[in-house]
Amino acid sequence: MWIVPEAAIGDLMDEGAAFDAVEAVFAAMAAGEAVNFPVVREAIGHAEALYGFKSGFDRAGLTLGVKSGGYWPGNAGQGIPNHQSSVFLFDPDTGRLKAVVGGNLLTALRTAAAAAVSIKHLARADAKVLGMVGAGHQSAFQLRAAARQRDFERVLGWNRSPEKLVRLEETAREIGLPFEAVELDRLGAEADVIATITSSFAPILMDAHVREGTHLACMGTDTVGKQEVEAAILGRAAVFTDEVAQSVTLGEAQHAVAEGLVAEAEVMPIGRVINADHPGRRSAGEITVFDGTGVGLQDLAVAAAVLERGIAAGIAVEVDF
Ligand code: NAD
Repeated sequence: MWIVPEAAIGDLMDEGAAFDAVEAVFAAMAAGEAVNFPVVREAIGHAEALYGFKSGFDRAGLTLGVKSGGYWPGNAGQGIPNHQSSVFLFDPDTGRLKAVVGGNLLTALRTAAAAAVSIKHLARADAKVLGMVGAGHQSAFQLRAAARQRDFERVLGWNRSPEKLVRLEETAREIGLPFEAVELDRLGAEADVIATITSSFAPILMDAHVREGTHLACMGTDTVGKQEVEAAILGRAAVFTDEVAQSVTLGEAQHAVAEGLVAEAEVMPIGRVINADHPGRRSAGEITVFDGTGVGLQDLAVAAAVLERGIAAGIAVEVDF
């Protein structure tokens, strides 16, 4: 079996490879070729940790495995990230363990790749202004991945604590885009594409903020009760997601569905658009929302890609097991 250590991932993986892996697995999911198994997530009663598993099988890519890990709130005090995860890949023909791959950086890359896939397939082709809501750990990855999908001319950012926006300002500078910290009404009035990536439990972006033709990638809501945008936005939008079952129960769409503004049957897997089985955006004035809830198959897809690159580069470590 192979080991790809966390420290090696940064040199092996980039936004382009993560994008390709995630786009392919979303397509496989919508075609019924790839399945996510039920998620386990439990408070373990130790170190205030939340621990769980996300697993699945992609028959098209022959990727079988599990991401395991969770959230340890005390880690930051020890100088290590609170979110910790590792990916285990198995040989689908024999069940033997094939690889252990560091999952921390991959989680950020695969989450940003999901938003980028939605921008590629759903945003207006002439989108020029990128709006970012949230300036936490994930936000810089989101900005980098999103910026590759359109000829954006500038970036607008909002965060609950404005001083944290320096993270986005620096990232925008690195990729050569002007950045401006703004209030939400300006962000909504000027942005063509908006990515939200916060841990909010109440709507931040309101219906009145969002103009026609906007594409929103709502990436922060991955738990029952979380919410980033007012449900009415989804009510007047075409809603897409990675996994419908998650979207309507623990994703951004949970609120619009509960309020009767969106029917479960109206929430479309983004993979159908990738597979040209759904038109996606229907007009320049339509609002499109991608509810990115995060699925195990994304993790497995990027881990399989990094393993292939790690073996080719001689960086993956082979051990007898
Ligand atoms: P982080 O802790 O580094 O940053 C949190 C961000 O949320 C900050 O910008 C903070 O200002 C903002 N925030 C927190 N509470 C808020 C509130 N009440 N109102 C407004 N803003 C608030 O977290 P991160 O690693 O950047 O992750 C952000 C979110 O994305 C988390 O909730 C995480 O669970 C989620 N996430 C989702 C996926 C997915 O696949 N969908 C993957 C990874 C992370």
